[in-house]
Amino acid sequence: MVGGSGHTVIESLNRVLVSRSALAHNFRICAEKSGGVPIMAMVKADAYGHGMEECARVFADSGARAFGVAEVVEGVRLRQSGIREPIFILAGLLPEFFEAVIDYDLTPVLVDGEIVDSLAATASAHGKKVHVHLKVDTGMGRQGCRLDQAPAVVHKIISHDSLHLAGIMAHFPMADDPVHGNSDRVLSDFLHLVATLRPLRLKDCRCHIANSGGIFSVDGAELDMVRPGISLYGYGADGMEAGMTNGRLRPAMSFVSRVLQVREVPAGTGLGYGHIYTTTKTTRLAVLPVGYEDGYVRALSNRAEVLVHGCRAPVVGRISMNLSLVDVSEIQEVRPGDEAVLLGRQGNDRISADEIAGWMESISYEVLCLFGHCNTREYRE
Ligand SMILES: *Cc1c(COP(=O)(O)O)cnc(C)c1O
Repeated sequence: MVGGSGHTVIESLNRVLVSRSALAHNFRICAEKSGGVPIMAMVKADAYGHGMEECARVFADSGARAFGVAEVVEGVRLRQSGIREPIFILAGLLPEFFEAVIDYDLTPVLVDGEIVDSLAATASAHGKKVHVHLKVDTGMGRQGCRLDQAPAVVHKIISHDSLHLAGIMAHFPMADDPVHGNSDRVLSDFLHLVATLRPLRLKDCRCHIANSGGIFSVDGAELDMVRPGISLYGYGADGMEAGMTNGRLRPAMSFVSRVLQVREVPAGTGLGYGHIYTTTKTTRLAVLPVGYEDGYVRALSNRAEVLVHGCRAPVVGRISMNLSLVDVSEIQEVRPGDEAVLLGRQGNDRISADEIAGWMESISYEVLCLFGHCNTREYRE
């Protein structure tokens, strides 16, 4: 919403709506499912497109004990918004960010022993003790130190008085695949490492591994803390929210546009750039002011559906930068100004981020980030 002159408030035609009550509800479901262990709410990527500061406030009020972001710059923004809980920097950091980590009391996740000494020296020079967590690679092949290298890194960290090893973490590469058996193996490898570290009597050191998939489909993965992301926003990691969570999560985001024009074209009319669709009958089209600049990506051309008057209208022709066409021949009395729901509920039907992800050969995570990042967000209770 943009405040214009006088009393007019000019609303964007495309709006992403975020339900605060759905966020709080999903937090409760995750808390229940993980048996009351502390929750680190993952709010990286601007809370998966839902707005980092706004979502963090809801989760903090719901009882979140920590927050997870990727980069220092996000952590600083979150701290400045008034969040007091620990803020984890999960993607690792470079020496140029040490000062910010100390100034804003952020919790870096170390991925190897590389920066341990220099971080410790900087902390010591500031007279501060920095809490760090260590990330071990349990088969993601992406980031973290190898299991066999972890004990040496742990020793290195605890040799510094200016560092406190507050946790050890890992990540499931296949938490959404309960059939494969990979997650049980990963969990047992991780627990084995934790056991070998027991003689060190690490104090106040939390072990954590579970993302949403871990919480909902890996028995015993709660450990000392859980790190849900996608489930806080209402979706399951397996792309079938009903399967994993018994349909108890509530999608928090919807994406709504408006009909700009309605027109009738005869059979044989080529539609949009490249004429990738040609009408086979007299067709009533609704023009929507939405396109790839709004995150409604070209891959959805000729594939997606939207809801108008509670009915499905297929996207026809190529999606362009700011305009899309939907076929409303089967829907009565569609007029300019009518609401078109691209994501979310209208009447008795609903289009989910999983469904849209299917059309664009992606996952709900990417759909939520795209729509959320590209559009004006409004919050609802
Ligand atoms: C993003 C992330 C999560 C959350 O994953 P979801 O599948 O969204 O629940 C948890 N842990 C780490 C390290 C992450 O990067």
